[in-house]
This record gives sequence, structure tokens and C-alpha cells, in this order.
Amino acid sequence: MQTDIEIAQASDIEPIMKIAENAGLQAHEIEPYGYDKAKIKLDPTVTRKSDLGKLILVTSINPTPAGEGKSTVTVGLADALSLAGKKTMIALREPSLGPVMGMKGGATGGGYAQVVPMADINLHFTGDFHALTSAHDTLAAILDNSLHQGNPLNIDPRRILWKRVLDINDRALRHVTVGLGGPTSGVPREDGFDITVASELMAILTLSTDLMDLKARVERIVVGYTYDKAPVTVKDLGVAGAITVLLKDAIKPNLVQTLAHTPAIIHGGPFANIAQGTNSVLATKTALQLADYAVTEAGFGADLGGEKFLDVKVPILGKTPDTIVIVATIRALKHHGGVLLSELNHENIAALKTGLENLGQHLTAMGRYGVPVVVAINRFTADTEAELQEIQNYVHLFGFEAYTTEVWAKGGAGAEELAAAVIEKADQESDFTPLYEPNDEAVDKLNNIAQTIYGAAKIELSAKASKQLAEFKQHGWDKLPIIMAKTQYSLSDDAKQLGAPKDFIIHVREFVPKLGAGFLVAMTGSVLTMPGLPKHPAAFDIDIDENGVITGLF
Ligand code: ADP
Repeated sequence: MQTDIEIAQASDIEPIMKIAENAGLQAHEIEPYGYDKAKIKLDPTVTRKSDLGKLILVTSINPTPAGEGKSTVTVGLADALSLAGKKTMIALREPSLGPVMGMKGGATGGGYAQVVPMADINLHFTGDFHALTSAHDTLAAILDNSLHQGNPLNIDPRRILWKRVLDINDRALRHVTVGLGGPTSGVPREDGFDITVASELMAILTLSTDLMDLKARVERIVVGYTYDKAPVTVKDLGVAGAITVLLKDAIKPNLVQTLAHTPAIIHGGPFANIAQGTNSVLATKTALQLADYAVTEAGFGADLGGEKFLDVKVPILGKTPDTIVIVATIRALKHHGGVLLSELNHENIAALKTGLENLGQHLTAMGRYGVPVVVAINRFTADTEAELQEIQNYVHLFGFEAYTTEVWAKGGAGAEELAAAVIEKADQESDFTPLYEPNDEAVDKLNNIAQTIYGAAKIELSAKASKQLAEFKQHGWDKLPIIMAKTQYSLSDDAKQLGAPKDFIIHVREFVPKLGAGFLVAMTGSVLTMPGLPKHPAAFDIDIDENGVITGLF
């Protein structure tokens, strides 16, 4: 059996100019990056349809190490829509290099449902993440320099929020001390590194509607507090212009293609457990403006990326989804039902039944938004007919349909039924109902997310979190949208609670205000903003030969 990278390497990639033309873009509207990648100009005169296409949001159950194949289904569904004669475009996130070298694969799909050039997209691509890293760390350097040059802003070095970033999984950098080496080397203080995709700049880049919106958001970033506990912003530091200059190209959406040559925009990659977890507003908007169907993805699952897409991104995007697709695999559902990873290849209806409750919670949660919902079962070879039937029966109880897809094995041809269902559902009248109103109190927003989306009993704030909310009220930040920072593996804040836990409490230990992005991050459980590497990192298996052929990259 061929690996993902072998399939990608054997594919026949078309020149990006041709893909752009098929997408309705003219030569002067794109900036090619070599043969098979390009950036789409933000110039408002770039070709746009007058009416937006249909928005199809793909999300999933809580992921397990067994894998759900969200990106794979997103790509396969888009190819299936293309096969059905629909003008389709994909809008996906860019993979982070940290996990590529660590444990979790990239974000380019798998099997015969992939975006290419797969290796480039998973590695340096068009340099967006490097630009973000440089911009973020420039700001960190400016901040430390301000401390060194007499601290005119009266910044309290113990209350600095702005850390440094690298797009690497490196647990050794979580806590560091900077400024050592005497008076000429800065002011000593505790600092730390996050992974680039956890940077507020990533969240900002992906929520910005244009370059000036990006600059205004950068100005609003709160980097820390003064000795009098007053917020210090980038505007105070006076470098919003320079930071925006460093991001002038990164803000432009990247164009590539699927194995079947469906145009795909891959842009931005904020983590879904600590930020909004979806590709950029500009990418989704561009796909909607160019195609009749824009297929996009929100990771990790419906509880994280899905909820954030609907409650945080949709108001900025100005377009609600026309259909929500929830991806599930029999393997992952059996794992939610208590089956060990080593036993997943055997039929186990009893465990599947238990695990299906996880899907049930997501169906209820997504169903409440008033948008049509369908389930896509991403079929693995070991799945049995009886197991597939069990899911169908369960989903029917909720009044929804499940469609078995085989896009990993067959590409777009493996999702004909799903595509037909999506076309039909997307034409139905929908009545989008947001989960909360902007003016709701933070505590009410939190309880609403926890109870309606996760099935929790309630939220509990730590003493620190309660104190912070009182402070935020004074600053006028208390009505901002909420981004829950929660484990992706469980509906609860404890990664080990699989399935659909009952009567649980979501513990909010602290908030992180992200004024540039425009939300409050509620930290629950033990979410990390700088991942570590596993004992056997993926990097051990990656190699390149004398002809430049890469192996082991999935
Ligand atoms: P997600 O987006 O949910 O993280 P991906 O789509 O990136 O998942 O898929 C993760 C991995 O699982 C990829 O390497 C892909 O090739 C593999 N995969 C996905 N679907 C299938 C399938 N039906 N059969 C076998 N492998 C699959």
C-alpha cells in the first residue's frame, strides 16, 4: 500500500496558473511561488462573484489517536462536488511544522484525498509561519529593548504577557530566563516560548479582513501591564506599522490544488485548543467569492473549532454555513467506547454503541445552530457492514443522515452520496441561531458553551479567574467573545474522559486577554501552548535521498 507522500509524489500536478484560471482568477491577480503554489492578491479589484457561494463546514467528533480524517474528508468532499459539476474551492489551515516533526501528521489530507505539493505545504510552504515567527519575536525584542532603554512605559517585567515563539515542539523552551549577562544584555526576567501557531498574531492574521484591519488589531494587542497594573499595548510601543510590514505577504491567501486539481486555499493555522482553529477569514471569503461551494474545516472537533467557527469567525466572515458535516470513524467511536487501540480492527458493536454517545453530543450541539447537519463516516478497511449500519441507525434517532465515504481509497468518487446530500442540504432554508449574544456576561457565555456544546453541568472559575473577570470589567473587556482552551480529546477538560461524560464541571483556571484578536481565552485543564516531542518523534523517520526525494513524511 502506498503512503500518503508516495501517492502525492506520483501525482500529476498542474501549473498553478492553470488552477488559478480554473478558479476564475486572472494572471495579474496572483503571485506565483514557483510552479505549483501562489498567493492571491488582496487587491479589491481581483475578480469576485457578486454573490457568495455555499459554505460547507467540516468538523468532527473528539479526535482520538485512531484518527478521524477530517482533512481527508474535506478534500475528498470538495473533489466529489467538483466531480458532480459544481464549481468548488477548499479553504484549509496550514500545517504547523512542530507537529509535523513530532507526532500528529500534517493537514493535507490522506490517501487519494490530498492537497499538493504535500511536502512543501507541510514544511515551509510560502513562508507565512516564518513571517509570523519573525513578526512575533520582533515585538518581543522591542519590548525587552524598551525595558533596557530606561523603561519609559513603566512596564512591570513580572507582568509581561508577550512571550516568544518558534514553530517547533520544544518543551525545554516553555520557561526561560532572558536578559542575563550584565547591564549591556538587557533586563533579566522570566520569559517563555509558545509554538508559533499559538501566537496571538496568528489569531489576528486569520481574523483580519484586510491589511488595515490587521494593523489596527496589532495596535490593540496588550503585551503586559505597568507597575500600576495599567495595560500596555503595541500602540504604546509604537511598532504596529513595522509588525504589519512583516506580515504584508503572510496575510495573502495561498493557492494550491487537490490531487484531482480542485483549487484549494491553504492559509493560517491557529490551534483550535487555544485559538479559533480555522483557516483565515480572507481564505474562506475568497473561496466563497470565487466558487459556488466553499468547503472548509474546523479542527479539532465540533466542541473546539466547530463552536469557535460558528461563534467567533462567522460574525467576522459575515456568512453562516449552509451545511455542517461531522466526520466520524468507527475506529474512533469504538475507542471512545473503551476499546484499546490494538483491538480496533475487530468488530465490536457494544463498544461502538457506547462510543456513539460522543457523536450524539456533537449532533445535538451542532444541530442547535439551525443549519443542516450530516454525518460523514470516513471508512477504514476493517469497518464491518454491521458497524456501519449501527451508526446509520443511531444518527437517524437524531433526525440526521450518515453517509459512508471512501475518499481515502477512491478520492472524490468515494463521496458521491455525501456530495449529493450536501448539495441538497445546502439549498435548504437555514435559520442560523448564534449560541450567545455579544452582550451576554462572560460567565453566561462560558456556561452556555460548557452546557450546550460539551454537555457539562456548569463551569467553575478559580479565584484567579474570578479576579481577572472583575479587572476585565474595569478595562471594558468583559463582553468579548470567549475562546475556550480545552483538551481536544474529551468533551470535558480531562483528556482521559472519553465518550460522552456526564455531570462534569469545566474548571476555568485563568483567562488570557487577546485584545488584538478580540477575544478572551479561558484556560481550562492543563492545555499547553508549547507542545513537546514524543519519545519517537516523526523526525526519526523522515529522510531525503540524492535526488531530493523525501520519505517518511506520513
Ligand atoms: P484529521 O484532519 O482529522 O487530523 P487527517 O485527514 O489529517 O485527519 O488524517 C490523518 C491520517 O489518517 C492521514 O495520514 C490519512 O492518510 C489517514 N487516514 C484518513 N482517513 C483514512 C482512511 N479512511 N483509511 C486509512 N487511513 C486514513
